[in-house]
Amino acid sequence: MGDELHFKSAGELSDLLSSGSVSSVEIVQSLVERVGSVDDRVKAFNSFDAEDALAQAQASDDRRAKGESLGELDGIPVGLKDNLAVKDQPLTCSSKILESFVSPYDGTCIQKLKANGAVLWGRLNMDEFAMGSSTENSGTHTTSNPWDLERIPGGSSGGSAAAVGACETPISLGSDTGGSIRQPASHCGVVGLKPTYGRVSRYGLAAFASSLDQIGPIARNIDDAALLLNAISGYDPHDSTSYNIDVPDFRKAAADDSDRKWTIGLPKEYLEESSDSAAIKPVLDAIEFYKSQGFEFKDISLPHTEYAVATYYIIATAEASSNLARYDGIRYTKRADDFDGKDSIDVYHQSRALGFGEEVKRRVILGTYVLSSGYYDAYYLKAQKCRTLIRSDFENAFESVDAIMTPTSPTPATLKGAHAEDPLAMYLSDIYTIPANLAGIPGLSIPCGYVDGLPVGLQILGKPFKEDEILRVGRVFEAAHGYKDEHPEL
Ligand code: GLN
Repeated sequence: MGDELHFKSAGELSDLLSSGSVSSVEIVQSLVERVGSVDDRVKAFNSFDAEDALAQAQASDDRRAKGESLGELDGIPVGLKDNLAVKDQPLTCSSKILESFVSPYDGTCIQKLKANGAVLWGRLNMDEFAMGSSTENSGTHTTSNPWDLERIPGGSSGGSAAAVGACETPISLGSDTGGSIRQPASHCGVVGLKPTYGRVSRYGLAAFASSLDQIGPIARNIDDAALLLNAISGYDPHDSTSYNIDVPDFRKAAADDSDRKWTIGLPKEYLEESSDSAAIKPVLDAIEFYKSQGFEFKDISLPHTEYAVATYYIIATAEASSNLARYDGIRYTKRADDFDGKDSIDVYHQSRALGFGEEVKRRVILGTYVLSSGYYDAYYLKAQKCRTLIRSDFENAFESVDAIMTPTSPTPATLKGAHAEDPLAMYLSDIYTIPANLAGIPGLSIPCGYVDGLPVGLQILGKPFKEDEILRVGRVFEAAHGYKDEHPEL
């Protein structure tokens, strides 16, 4: 059984641990072997410390032997995007500028995972500072899609999604600023959930665009995503934007199959946009399935959708230019060895020139520009107004529907290098995911089929703090289809 453990979901592993049929050490050993046999091709990890993971697993087994288990997650490995602060572990954001940085503290999600006994399992690759949709902007390497190694896994949480898809970890955490959990989940055939802004503390998440960033779970099924969301949710005094609201038991809520009449909105702007999209067929089939289950569908309009991508790239770059100002060659990171700086300004220039990749530089320049005094009103202020309009589109829509369904991404995973010469084409690939971040609402992507052997995701958007409802809606589809048990051949 040992060599099959890596295929099991977190929920299954949790049951096996409670019944005493398996130990956490055996689970971690099976993942170490799995990573050893597939990660030279998938390349999901930036680094991992097998010895440390085994020590955490042993500690979990010891607790359990004494009858002191910390709960459902105790002994379960959780992969971490490399922008989450874990005390005494590297935190690189896949950037050269943080190459040698070691975190001095645990972020709130990490503290919560530790309090639940989870085994922190490796640092997963991402686009540098979470800027991108493919992991090609990583300062270390590009991760491969486990379903086709020539293709991107999506991004920016590409490592987190590929590791789950390739069964190198049962569950992982990613972060989503404009789609970075949902889009790679869709490309890798797994479940990804961006919680409502404020549901999960951002303390200890290296900031990209603070008003949009959210940490969330990536998993092979909805139950596992709910299990991980249970552990990380909740108010945190360290994050003034975290929201003091009850946290339901998402696992229980997702499993609730009592009768309920659901009305789902289909936004015409998204469907018009996607009518000739390569990923649309499985999404339309999924909608037909929901109809057959008695779900009512209603055509809705989100009229400001066309401004979402432009609005996002103004707000996100403005915030990024400010957030990334701290990486100055003095704090966080070493200076270049051949440093010959004349003065402190020169230190900043040289360190940033060497440490940041192309895309990060592009965004810092763009962000500084839209915030500069002559252009602030024309760009930044205008974008904030558009953001309000986009948010009210959703508020209006949710007056008559319980949830909204759309494709997650316009295409299945593209070949590596497809957008190399054209960053704008890459930006447009986030068209369906970005509005949820601007509005702060939760969004779930679940596998709903394949196009030419590549997984495609269905996106379900919900009302603020109604993650339980979208998980429940997603579960109806998942329960009737076998996608959660399908793994790529590696
Ligand atoms: N792809 C989007 C971007 O490049 C979203 C990234 C994210 O959600 N972190 O900004």
